[in-house]
Amino acid sequence: MNPANFDFHCHSIVSDGLLPPAVVARRAAANGVDLWALTDHDDLGGLLEARATADEVGMSFINGVEISIEWRGIPIHIVGLGFDAANPGLVNGLNELRAGRIERARRMGEALAAVGIPGVYEGAQCFVTNPSLISRAHFGRYMVSIGIARDMAGVFQHYLTPGKPGYVDHRWATLGEAVGWIAGAGGVAVVAHPGRYKMSGADMRRFLDDFKDCGGRGLEVTCGSHSPDHVMHFARLARHYEFHASRGSDFHGPEESYVDLGKLPQLPEDLKPVWRLIV
Ligand code: AMP
Ligand code: MN
Ligand code: MN
Ligand code: MN
Repeated sequence: MNPANFDFHCHSIVSDGLLPPAVVARRAAANGVDLWALTDHDDLGGLLEARATADEVGMSFINGVEISIEWRGIPIHIVGLGFDAANPGLVNGLNELRAGRIERARRMGEALAAVGIPGVYEGAQCFVTNPSLISRAHFGRYMVSIGIARDMAGVFQHYLTPGKPGYVDHRWATLGEAVGWIAGAGGVAVVAHPGRYKMSGADMRRFLDDFKDCGGRGLEVTCGSHSPDHVMHFARLARHYEFHASRGSDFHGPEESYVDLGKLPQLPEDLKPVWRLIV
């Protein structure tokens, strides 16, 4: 197979996306995606619907997930691709990770109440579409709806990022756990949007060393939040580490995304695309 347009990173209402998996699937196909993965945060609940719809519209599909981890205190996302979604290690690990989100969300609500914005945990529930998956995006949408900030960028910048009043530290999965769950289920682990982490170059290399040692094999080189400079930089790192390269829009919904499904530059031609490890 030689897909012309693969997109291995996006979200549905099973996590903090705005559209159901079937609608995301149809939109991907309409945009010309020919090989697709749905990668909801910490949850596999959309994969059956996504696959069924992809089959209907004649688009190839692989299982995906975006796992929340913490490495040396830094929150990082690891995309898992092409795994067995019934694997008990993966399923149990994700169940625990989701349970931790509820407690964290309560603490975020308390922290915001302490600076004079009460009721945000309760209000955010109106935006939650999967009761076991609450994310900062749901807090952000509620806070925009009551006029705390004009848009999501503003609410994250002033309230929901490290050092700001609504941000609380949280113990996510470890790097070893996330890569182990994915690999144990027969999948491939990929570092999501590496350009978004606030890390020095030396820390990024330390992180990629650890990721490779754990069994990680891929790096998102082209993604919705990467500038052309990011693409060049992470292409170099992919070559250096001999990682396979991934490409993903990180689409959450029509109004809230950097780019639409499949609407991304192609990967630099010399890189090994990650789909070769899977399909
Ligand atoms: P969480 O997994 O609960 O920490 O929430 C992270 C999610 O918040 C991301 O996956 C995005 O959906 C959303 N997010 C993070 N930063 C921003 C931002 N600056 N603007 C809009 N949404 C954001
Ligand atoms: Mn998200
Ligand atoms: Mn992410
Ligand atoms: Mn994402």
